[in-house]
Amino acid sequence: MYNEAIIEEAQKYVMNTYGRFPMVPVRGEGCWLWDADGTQYLDCVSGIAVCALGHADPRLQAVLKEQAENLWHCSNLYWIPNQAALAKKLVEISGMGKAFFCNSGAEANEAAIKLVRKYFYRRNRPEKYEIIVFNHSFHGRTLAALTATGQKKYQEGFAPLPAGFVYAEYNDLDSVRALINEHTAAILAEPIQGESGIHPADPDFLAGLRALCDENELLLVFDEVQCGMGRTGDFFAWQGYGVRPDIVTMAKALAGGFPIGAMIASDEAAGGFAPGDHASTFGGNPLATAVACAVVDIIGEPEFLERVKARGEGLAGALSAIRDPRITAVRGRGLMVGIQFDREIKDLIAICMENGLLVVGAGPNVLRLVPPLTILPAEIGTAVSILKTSLEAWVTV
Ligand SMILES: *Cc1c(COP(=O)(O)O)cnc(C)c1O
Repeated sequence: MYNEAIIEEAQKYVMNTYGRFPMVPVRGEGCWLWDADGTQYLDCVSGIAVCALGHADPRLQAVLKEQAENLWHCSNLYWIPNQAALAKKLVEISGMGKAFFCNSGAEANEAAIKLVRKYFYRRNRPEKYEIIVFNHSFHGRTLAALTATGQKKYQEGFAPLPAGFVYAEYNDLDSVRALINEHTAAILAEPIQGESGIHPADPDFLAGLRALCDENELLLVFDEVQCGMGRTGDFFAWQGYGVRPDIVTMAKALAGGFPIGAMIASDEAAGGFAPGDHASTFGGNPLATAVACAVVDIIGEPEFLERVKARGEGLAGALSAIRDPRITAVRGRGLMVGIQFDREIKDLIAICMENGLLVVGAGPNVLRLVPPLTILPAEIGTAVSILKTSLEAWVTV
């Protein structure tokens, strides 16, 4: 196997929807990846905050193998023990009411949007359908999720978009208050905006959103697809803020790389759905929920989360100590860190890759590090040192 031959075949047969780097990962272990030519990389992308336990975790492999030998799929026509067990774990960790399972982040947000509308419909308040979302947010690529996404570049060419979304400024409560009217049903926000550059919410902002929802009979929906699952050092990022939503969506790291999405809601909000209102063929199937149960058990351990906080502080500290005039800020929580530059960083990402470090952009000027949550202090040291070398090699004018 060689990188070039594989890339040639993919370019011929795979639809051209991604701008990809010229690299073909074929094997992983822990925080490390190897490409088809045998080159080794330190992976600080982890499939964009998905492989939270790193690659090829033997505990997850064992669970997946065992489930694969018993039952893969059976449909939600029947009861699924792993699904019930996973729902119980998520409900207990969140202190919320009930869970719904799907297959991706966009689908989880789609489910949340539908739940908000049906909840008010069932309460004989069908006039309440509008959802306040935020500029620079990201919620996924289905038509409704990309309409909720406050970035024009994702929406261009897909008109007509679904109605019922209005856009406020993140970390600006007045801009939210100004949009509330008799049609407002919910506020949807990421506790930390991921794709647009790792922008954490101000604590007052999230608390203010909760208060606005309580005063105006609105549902508060947090998109924790990226910042949830222990990424920030709390199981849910909102737990670190002490602000509980009515609905939470999650996906990315929930099964450590096995596709799954979930929405959890308070018992009150979950009452918006009755049998037949929403469904997913694969949602919460035995394979996905077996792996997710194992992931949640591991990440949910207090010592695991404490370690994420400590490692995150180590990483952010080391990054903040880098002296480069092109760096204007280091932001984030836990192991979700963004380095803001005063210019575009496309070339820097390529140089890091040439030097054996995988990182990913979040917007054009922010370098994002979302390594496996299991990354070791020595590996953080290696990542920072490769980044420093790469910054020296990154000649800009
Ligand atoms: C990645 C992401 C999504 C979309 O998830 P998909 O699984 O790609 O549909 C939604 N919201 C946030 C915050 C994300 O980071």
